[in-house]
Amino acid sequence: MKNENTNTSGKSKIPPIAIARAAVQLVAFILVPGLFISVFSALGAIWKSILSSTFRFDEQAANILLLAVVFIVTAVWGRFFCGFICSFGALQDLLWLGGRNLPFRPVFSQKVDRVLKYLKYAVLLFIVIGVWTFGITGDTVWSPWTIFGMYASPWKGVPSQAMFLSVGGLLLLLTIIGSLLIERFFCKYLCPLGALFTLASHFRVFKLKRDSASCSGSCRVCSRKCSMSIPLYQYDKVRSGECIDCMKCTTACARGNINAEPVAAVSGTLAAAAIAGVSFVGTLPIISTSSAVSADPNESATAAIETATQAGKFKNGSYVGYGTGFRGSIEVTVLVSDGAISEIAVNHSSDDSEFFAQAEQKVIPAIIAAQDTNVATVSGATFSSQGIIDAVADALGTQLTAAAVTETKQPSTAAAAEPTTEVTEETTQSSQSNGTFTDGVYSGSGTGFRGTTDVSVTVEGGKIADITINSYQDDEQFFSRAQSGVISEILAAQDTNVATVSGATFSSNSIIEAVSNALGKEFTNPNSTMSRGHGHGHSH
Ligand code: SF4
Ligand code: SF4
Ligand code: SF4
Repeated sequence: MKNENTNTSGKSKIPPIAIARAAVQLVAFILVPGLFISVFSALGAIWKSILSSTFRFDEQAANILLLAVVFIVTAVWGRFFCGFICSFGALQDLLWLGGRNLPFRPVFSQKVDRVLKYLKYAVLLFIVIGVWTFGITGDTVWSPWTIFGMYASPWKGVPSQAMFLSVGGLLLLLTIIGSLLIERFFCKYLCPLGALFTLASHFRVFKLKRDSASCSGSCRVCSRKCSMSIPLYQYDKVRSGECIDCMKCTTACARGNINAEPVAAVSGTLAAAAIAGVSFVGTLPIISTSSAVSADPNESATAAIETATQAGKFKNGSYVGYGTGFRGSIEVTVLVSDGAISEIAVNHSSDDSEFFAQAEQKVIPAIIAAQDTNVATVSGATFSSQGIIDAVADALGTQLTAAAVTETKQPSTAAAAEPTTEVTEETTQSSQSNGTFTDGVYSGSGTGFRGTTDVSVTVEGGKIADITINSYQDDEQFFSRAQSGVISEILAAQDTNVATVSGATFSSNSIIEAVSNALGKEFTNPNSTMSRGHGHGHSH
């Protein structure tokens, strides 16, 4: 029998529509590998903001635009998003192709297939009610999409191996195995977004048509080739919301009995392009890694700020702090005005924008409103949330008291590079009696990860009043963390017998050694006996 994939010389050929689809899938995979996550996350963000009565149109505008375009286009033209753009769908197509020589691939009866397809609605309900409404998954990374999205964009940094061992990692493994055996396994049976698309596209305008006058329905090749196992041979038009517009049926029928109207097909393709374009643009407002969120003007925030101002909870100034998100460090600047946190700006983050934006939009206003870092993380963006909280706590010196926060602990390369002008007396020894120190300014040095750290210590009224970093050679990322923690500890304890900062041990020890050196105190720096200084492995 002649097949559309076989030319007159008997050689198989790939239909142009298949080539075009593969090309679009490849481009989408490279440019927007996490787009399907963005679409679903947008829905979750709106849902959760409504539930928590924090919905604001301006905050959710990008999410609303994204959802409006994707769902309107899907309702009119069908699931071109799934057939052409979704990278998780493309991954499954690739796996299905890769597993074509497997000795066994199960074929479900129509009845079993129909029942299994209801599973995705159960998954959708579980996520909406269990996860978004009641947050029952806690901190676990449960979504295979999340893990896939991270590994599909390695240029943003490779997540830790532990991520692959999470629930989401195991589900991704299950999806990979399932997709080798069953075409579009996840799309058919498990995808919650697919469940919504199935409902949304049920009454679409664009429909594939079967010429029933020329087809008795006996060969059923079209149904066997259908990516979503739709029994096409039974219908004159493909009305099923399961159809992903992959167009495989149109090329599978040797008699050309299944057709898409050319105008409709072109329009549908343009619709797919519109989804991609608007979706990409819709994510732009949350791609930025440098943004500032000012104090929320709502009543509780105003009251908290007033309380903090009256109590002089924080010392005025601008402070930099670091935390660790999913993909690496997060840097923030915290501005304290009138004794209260007035602004928090994210200077840098490596986390995925769709997750980080969720965390940033909720956590920062919450910290400002509470004037405290003891705030809840955002479900579904736990790592980014915790990273922001840690960074703000780091900037404020973790104790969140004015006594523990001093201007001198602010990490600043420029400030650190310039010798302080406050040094009025150069000596490496201070006399010490009865637990106090002799007033003056003393200098000292210690050994860090990459070299020497020089400090000046100011003693006033017999107490350590100020510690200034004159220069250091360690990586700023680590040194700043050590600086924030160790200096405030020494000032609070009036002693150099303080703990190092976890993850910044070398830099911490260099500061402790330098201050001890300036004050004439004994300190054995373990850095001196450790090998160091190669690469960025920094076993801090
Ligand atoms: S059903 Fe889900 S995973 Fe499959 S292509 Fe559509 S959005 Fe992507
Ligand atoms: S009906 Fe045709 S276009 Fe729709 S999913 Fe099946 S093969 Fe693809
Ligand atoms: S539409 Fe084509 S492939 Fe499908 S049953 Fe009819 S003749 Fe066979």
